[in-house]
Amino acid sequence: MIVMHSTSRWTKVLTLSLLLSAVTPPAFSDRVASQVAAPSPSASSTQTGTNNKTKDPKTVAAERKELFDKISLVTGIPWSFLAAVDQYEKTMNTVKKRSVQLTLANIYFSEAAWSGMLNPNQLDTNPRSIAFFHGYGRDGSGDQIADKSNDLDVLAAMSEILGKNGVNQENLQTNLTNYYQNPRSVLRINQFAAIYEKLGTMDVNEHAFPLPVTADYSYRSTWGDSRGWGGHRIHEGTDLFAGYGVPVRSTCYGIVEEKGWNPYGGWRIGIRDLNNIYHYYAHLSGFQKGIQPNDIVKPGQVLGWVGSSGYGKPGTSGKFPPHLHFGLYRDNGNKEWSFDPYPSLRRWEREDQQRRKK
Ligand SMILES: [Zn+2]
Repeated sequence: MIVMHSTSRWTKVLTLSLLLSAVTPPAFSDRVASQVAAPSPSASSTQTGTNNKTKDPKTVAAERKELFDKISLVTGIPWSFLAAVDQYEKTMNTVKKRSVQLTLANIYFSEAAWSGMLNPNQLDTNPRSIAFFHGYGRDGSGDQIADKSNDLDVLAAMSEILGKNGVNQENLQTNLTNYYQNPRSVLRINQFAAIYEKLGTMDVNEHAFPLPVTADYSYRSTWGDSRGWGGHRIHEGTDLFAGYGVPVRSTCYGIVEEKGWNPYGGWRIGIRDLNNIYHYYAHLSGFQKGIQPNDIVKPGQVLGWVGSSGYGKPGTSGKFPPHLHFGLYRDNGNKEWSFDPYPSLRRWEREDQQRRKK
């Protein structure tokens, strides 16, 4: 019968590794048992009622990393790729105001997607009937229940989607494309995976002020003001006035998405962070040597220098006093929009000042 063959490969692998750990030499079995066969309570279910909102972000980051490492070991899918999908889903949950009841993971499945479009029971948790109706729902925790508020069940489901026909890069990319049906989502997930792969951690919440707090600068809230060049546009950012050559630094962990000339922004650079926010730095006098698109950057890393480039053809400069134009843009998967960076700038400035005092 179809339903019998559809028993989760995941559960089989998990069971297999349990068996394996019992019969193989201690060194190997310890390693497998500690990493796979016995998921830590925090990672295994939501039954404990742990609320991550009350947890230290560093602890959550470490627990998430540990969880994706375990899943990676069982499925062969790189942890950074799983983490990137999960993190992308997290950012979409935020902008789409979706509620997800998971403990550490953030992947959202609608009821219809989980149980199967034609399943008469849209709240189905039986892995067999879900499989019969071609729902994505899986049991990854081994309790015979496919629960979309259980981390392991949701990750088993997503791993099966991503790992269809094998976990090599080509298949992973094909499956990702087929699942999201949106090149923009695929691009973001690959950007996130590249960041995680390079950094080797999910502890990436730190930010920095774009200028050294020791430099001479001034700024005020100017987001939404009308501005003078290039027709009627509102001011989508904050202007930080400083002298030529003051270093411009990355405000976040992220990946260089854009670098080069733009008629409005002059020499400008854009960094995508792991919250799917685009950090835009304009009017630079030049770029830090060697910095290229797709480079992974850290908070405080120098990207270039304050200048007055822009408002014309490449190389135009000096049409206004030197300053850094800093913008933040959010992405909902289809379009981007600017939001006021001023409150973030104030916070990052304060944090940098506090770090200096330590
Ligand atoms: Zn500006």
